[in-house]
Amino acid sequence: MSNGTVNRTDLRQSERFLSLYTPPKIAGEFTGKHIISVEQFDRHDLQILFDATLSIRRRMRQHDRGLLQLTAGRLMATLFYEASTRTDLSFQAAMRHLGGEVVAASNGVQFSSIYKGENLADTVRAVGCYADVIVLRHPNVGSSYEAAYYLDLLREQVIRQPLVISGGDGIGEHPTQALLDIFTIFDCKHRIDGLNITLVGDLRHGRTVHSLAKLIARYEAQDTTLNFVAPDELRMPENVLNYIREQGIAVNETDNLYDVLGETDVIYWTRVQEERFEDPDSYEAIKDRFIMTPAVLAQAKDDVILMHPLPRKHEMGTPADHDALDADPRTVYFKQMENGMFVRMALLAKVLGGLWV
Ligand code: ASP
Repeated sequence: MSNGTVNRTDLRQSERFLSLYTPPKIAGEFTGKHIISVEQFDRHDLQILFDATLSIRRRMRQHDRGLLQLTAGRLMATLFYEASTRTDLSFQAAMRHLGGEVVAASNGVQFSSIYKGENLADTVRAVGCYADVIVLRHPNVGSSYEAAYYLDLLREQVIRQPLVISGGDGIGEHPTQALLDIFTIFDCKHRIDGLNITLVGDLRHGRTVHSLAKLIARYEAQDTTLNFVAPDELRMPENVLNYIREQGIAVNETDNLYDVLGETDVIYWTRVQEERFEDPDSYEAIKDRFIMTPAVLAQAKDDVILMHPLPRKHEMGTPADHDALDADPRTVYFKQMENGMFVRMALLAKVLGGLWV
């Protein structure tokens, strides 16, 4: 952490918590639950969250000050061991719009006791002694499971009952991104059922696509097809493929975008995750395989939506291509970004048990 390099042995330390800790199902009741995997949600839970998000968005538009009641007196801590713009700031903005407060380590986690070598289990429990909810982003797969495990132990010793919400655990999952993504699809298309959805790019390392694909399966979408477009080296991991197939969702895998582009209702473009490659040459060899440009988008349906979790780099062409794509009414990534704050407001209000006024 202190010198900016990642020890790849450490990356595996948290993985054992994937089998040690089972996250609670939401089953219609969000209050007091950690949010660490999309596997916690089902179609009914998602409908509750969509309705809450729509209500919050409507009231934000009307500058309804009643929203301030929802998390007043509650404290959220941000604990980000990896870079973030949208997740970090939208969570902070969400908590403040709801009337809650936010704390973070002064000058970032690199200047906290992590610098002295403190492990995640101890750091998370320290933060849990002060905050009601911790938003955690960490490079280890399973880190949010580890945090939930230790916070549950802490609950037996202290007055506070802290929760953790995952802001992304390495190449594992990014559940709140998937919640805002599925909400944005619903918002734009008014349904999830019957859609042809194409995920493109680094499906191997992209935690957003792992979570989104699994969440569409959790929604038990009817007659929905998922297309995974990636070079062989960056294919969707087997465990995610198996999970989706078990839920009965139709899946196509291809390395040729044009096999599926003409049929697609939702395109979800992604960045090649340079920071996850062990060998820079293999990143260089693959980084330009899929580039979205206005010429590519011209071959898609008139009513397609183009999504991207962002940040974007050359996978959306040059800065001039960015501008041209942004001007196309089919691109929705800014809407997606704003929805991120509304969905996180709904989620925070729900898990913290804010009285819906
Ligand atoms: N912001 C997203 C994430 O944290 C996507 C990305 O970084 O490419 O996973």
